[in-house]
Amino acid sequence: MAFEPEAVFVRERALDWPRGREIAAYFRDRGVPVTVLGPRQRVPVPPLEGPRRGYIRAKRTLVVTTVNAARFLPSKPSADYQLPLSSGCPSFCEYCYLQTTLGKRPYVQVYVNLEEILSRARAYLDEAGGRIRTFEGSCTSDPLPVETYTRALRDVITFFASRPNGRFRFVTKYTDVGPLTRLAHNGHTRFRFSINTDRVVRAYEHGTPPVPQRLAALRLILEAGYPSGFIVAPLFLEGDWKSDYEALFHLIRQTCGDLRGADFTFELITHRFTDRAKATILEMFPHTSLPLDPGRRQYRRGQFGYGKYLYPRDVLKEAEVLFEDLIGRLFPGARLDYFV
Ligand code: SF4
Repeated sequence: MAFEPEAVFVRERALDWPRGREIAAYFRDRGVPVTVLGPRQRVPVPPLEGPRRGYIRAKRTLVVTTVNAARFLPSKPSADYQLPLSSGCPSFCEYCYLQTTLGKRPYVQVYVNLEEILSRARAYLDEAGGRIRTFEGSCTSDPLPVETYTRALRDVITFFASRPNGRFRFVTKYTDVGPLTRLAHNGHTRFRFSINTDRVVRAYEHGTPPVPQRLAALRLILEAGYPSGFIVAPLFLEGDWKSDYEALFHLIRQTCGDLRGADFTFELITHRFTDRAKATILEMFPHTSLPLDPGRRQYRRGQFGYGKYLYPRDVLKEAEVLFEDLIGRLFPGARLDYFV
């Protein structure tokens, strides 16, 4: 399902790019209000709008803009660079990592100067002198729900297919993958799906496709021969977590087979939170049932001075052993990239 915004704002400079003009026309044709913003003009905010209402409205608003492509941020450890394609996401996952990074009004923004962005990527690849360089396309967004009108993934996948030392990767919870299955990708794009147990999806991942649809999309991607993978995150190690995750992994096995012969990875990330993230989550989702009790976690100081609350060491160890065993038994052809 493509994201259908209630309102679209287009930065004047985005209209210098064909993609910007096409997206504006696409929404005008559909009767969605499209407003052009001058250089210093902000997206207007209705008077007396509270934080929660503003958050919801922002996630229903598309901003068409450009990004400074002079330099890419690093994306360690899983990739060398962030590839900026979009930011924000129309879904409402209560635990979302973007809650703290995108501020109180996380508009869905798409960057239309893709030719500039790919020209910068080309320069990084040329500088690397043949060494493989990997670019991550989902550091600040889920790029798939806007693909119907941006066509950015289509062009990025095609670009990397022709670059011998270029690799692209992104992650999504969305499922509208049909047009991407017909591209010549040359095995240079890794297509990962974010999944979780049915209980977690229902409780916390509002506005995302259910797991069976994500698995069906993965099957199409496997058939198209893409390197692919799952990010299982965040892992909630609470209640019946062992039987819930075992059931999920067995469902994957039933639907997708043992993944032998596929270039397939698992990335496993346990739930963690900071004091700041907790405060933001409680403001946006005051009745959340997310496990946010610092008393049940170990505290680890981060490199920038603020700390995170992780599960206790013995629980993490137990989970690591369980997931290694599950992946080894059910998916002998797959690789566990990391468990954190
Ligand atoms: Fe955040 Fe991903 Fe959920 Fe979007 S789908 S709200 S990016 S966690």
